[in-house]
Amino acid sequence: ESKGAGRGCVTVFDPEMLSEKRQRRFLERELRAAVFLNELELHYQAVTDTDRNCVAVEGLLRWRHPVRGMISPAEFIPVAERSSLIDMVGEWVFRRACLDLHNFPGIRISINVSGEQLKRDSFVNVFENVLLETGANANRFILEITETVATAATPEIIARIERLRAMGFHIALDDFGTGHCGFNYIKTLPIDAIKIDRSYIRNLGSDRIAQVFVSALTQIARIQGLVIVAEGIETEEEFALARAAGCNRFQGYLLGRPQPLASFRQSSHRLPRPELALIA
Ligand code: C2E
Ligand code: MG
Ligand code: MG
Ligand code: MG
Repeated sequence: ESKGAGRGCVTVFDPEMLSEKRQRRFLERELRAAVFLNELELHYQAVTDTDRNCVAVEGLLRWRHPVRGMISPAEFIPVAERSSLIDMVGEWVFRRACLDLHNFPGIRISINVSGEQLKRDSFVNVFENVLLETGANANRFILEITETVATAATPEIIARIERLRAMGFHIALDDFGTGHCGFNYIKTLPIDAIKIDRSYIRNLGSDRIAQVFVSALTQIARIQGLVIVAEGIETEEEFALARAAGCNRFQGYLLGRPQPLASFRQSSHRLPRPELALIA
């Protein structure tokens, strides 16, 4: 919390602020318990190639709250990020993904990493220990970092990302286009893939700027040898336009919704033959 001058100015008696703060505290406490009560789940969504073969999956966190039902990560991740809970939650996610890995022969699992996790000195060691503990291989994972976090990264964070890459992790820039999206970052950041935010994909049919933006991005990515993922593909038209613009990976409700591991395994996704090398 802020100190000094700000402190005296805080409107302690504003009931709305108080309740918001109290709500956050409450959610924080419940989230801490959720980790131990096994209320967290990692769901999986397919990432496909142009032929709709599943070439990777993204793990998306869900909180099955006993009273409130399914709570979206968009609601509780920010709460976790404002406390040290994000470290515990982030470690849980990575361990879960490592344990689930054998269900996805021949493909990579992508997980989301918070900017707050990356700020920790211990972050790389924590992931290293989970790999040792589970026997999983770093090169089976893609770590997704949002564009906003990556472009604001300190030299320490960049060094950490480079260490992760040296261990074998792939790095993807998530939600590309929602931040400062300097094209020069693509050249300098240690990354392997870019995920174009759904806001561009949604407008590919109607917005000339979105078309030019995505095409330019895919051309730069090709030169840099990066994978380009189109996020949030909901319609055949969006799929066709994203393909035409040069994207080579696709993710969205059209190609498969995020689902629990058990139902993902029963779904009709075409997975690669296990004996093949990693392809995405
Ligand atoms: P994200 O990483 O950009 O994930 C994509 C989001 O888009 C997911 O929302 C996914 O369910 C949703 N989505 C996928 N296909 C479609 C589509 O065709 N249309 C639309 N409208 N949406 C689609 P979700 O699961 O609610 O996650 C929201 C965000 O929460 C994620 O955005 C990510 O930033 C964060 N998040 C999720 N899991 C984790 C996690 O384990 N750790 C951290 N730090 N953040 C996470
Ligand atoms: Mg993501
Ligand atoms: Mg995204
Ligand atoms: Mg996101």
